[in-house]
Amino acid sequence: MADVRPPPADGFPISVETLIVGGGACGMVAALSSKEAGQEVLVIEADAVASGSTALSAGLIPAAGTTLQAAAGIDDTPEIFAADIHRKAHGENDPALEYAMAEGAAPVIDWLTTTHNLPFSVVTDFDYPGHSKRRMHGLPTRSGAELVDALRAACEQQGVEIVSNLRAETLFAEGRRVSGLAARRPDGTVETIGCAKLILACNGFGGNRQMVSDLMPDIRDAVWFGHDGNKGEAVDWGRALGADLKHLGAYQGHGNVAHPHGILITWAVITEGGVQVNLNGERFWDESQGYSEAARAVLAQPNGTAYAIFDDRIAGIARQFADFQLAEAQGAVIRAGSVQDLATQLDLPADALVETLQAIPQDGPDQFGRRFEAQLKPPYCAVRVTGALFHTQGGMQTDGHGRVLHTDGQPFDNLYAGGGAACGVSGSGDSGYLSGNGLLSAVVLGYRAGQATDY
Ligand SMILES: Cc1cc2nc3c(=O)[nH]c(=O)nc-3n(C[C@H](O)[C@H](O)[C@H](O)COP(=O)(O)OP(=O)(O)OC[C@H]3O[C@@H](n4cnc5c(N)ncnc54)[C@H](O)[C@@H]3O)c2cc1C
Repeated sequence: MADVRPPPADGFPISVETLIVGGGACGMVAALSSKEAGQEVLVIEADAVASGSTALSAGLIPAAGTTLQAAAGIDDTPEIFAADIHRKAHGENDPALEYAMAEGAAPVIDWLTTTHNLPFSVVTDFDYPGHSKRRMHGLPTRSGAELVDALRAACEQQGVEIVSNLRAETLFAEGRRVSGLAARRPDGTVETIGCAKLILACNGFGGNRQMVSDLMPDIRDAVWFGHDGNKGEAVDWGRALGADLKHLGAYQGHGNVAHPHGILITWAVITEGGVQVNLNGERFWDESQGYSEAARAVLAQPNGTAYAIFDDRIAGIARQFADFQLAEAQGAVIRAGSVQDLATQLDLPADALVETLQAIPQDGPDQFGRRFEAQLKPPYCAVRVTGALFHTQGGMQTDGHGRVLHTDGQPFDNLYAGGGAACGVSGSGDSGYLSGNGLLSAVVLGYRAGQATDY
């Protein structure tokens, strides 16, 4: 059980300037940034090898006004990006935090690219729902595993120490100042470490079934697709400290996870003109709204499953994702030369499927209000999918520089949070999540918390 106690009377056997809890994208970006700011930094990580939800992700980070976008001829600004975030989250976020994220992302991507040699590129061949510009940046395989490996290599090169197998349990604090923490090794031994600045980068509570059930009952029965070790200590510490915990019911779901293979199928198969049909061969919603809310839409269908239906051209675009290639290799992607053949292979009523695909309008909105720019053509592809919970988006409210705010709106002296430990900019539920909001918060707040010197 995570708790908060007064500082130990006899002090700490070891102390560092910046102590970071968690070695995912947020923790490692914070560590690189803190090191660059001249601080002595230590990361503690519960797992044997830091990976987190970051390693499970597609590793795509939205940013507006990057050098890479300029080179690709994409004219984008933080103002446009902030407006997209605001619109998707139905105006439920703190606008200052939205702007901080939108403004902070491009410098971080440029810095990771030039200073730390991460070979980012912009996704230029398809749109993500809600983004009015093409601004998703990813590494060559479009996988978070590659991102984590690259960040770990950068940490090694910069001499950042990451201590594994150490799970933070207790924070020591007096008033608004945190002085250190106690962490447990797998064999039960406890170590205490003092610090001048503490950055919480231990993500949210998606790996804690009880908290998910209590705080987001809508999605409690969905497949959990994130990192199991994210148990929600930041929420427990926040409650004990009097931190402003916001939007604890907010999360990112995903309604396009290959079932039963358990492989993420990129939403590009939908935005490029694909659709989802249920076991009756019928569409059931406006898929262009986004993949997060798709989880609930799919789970509400018979058997909690659906089929994503697209075509060979779209499969060619999706193939840039390592996950899609894996899905193909595992036989999750069905191919058919005609709709009848597709229906037979999927065991769907052929007449209904033919009618559904024929009803997709060439121009004008369909019955759900969705507009299509391209028609599906044979050969067709399909994947059986279900809805999953990817990560939680609520947490400690910060000031845009990662500094945690108290319920009275004033900042803590030296406590910072980023990534899933902090409240993101996805509003209060599942439909406010704009693609990439997860890593956006991880890298922007991580970077800014690392740079911070006002503690
Ligand atoms: C399948 C999938 C695809 C996704 N795709 C994208 C995407 O393309 N773009 C995007 O923006 N977001 C995506 N996300 C969301 C994204 O992965 C997360 O928002 C992001 O990784 C959060 O980063 P983090 O550093 O906060 O957490 P994590 O990467 O989860 O790191 C937290 C670390 O803290 C450690 N830890 C936890 N508790 C403790 C403790 N008490 N003591 C010590 N260590 C602790 C954990 O072991 C872990 O290593 C995706 C998520 C999933 C599951």
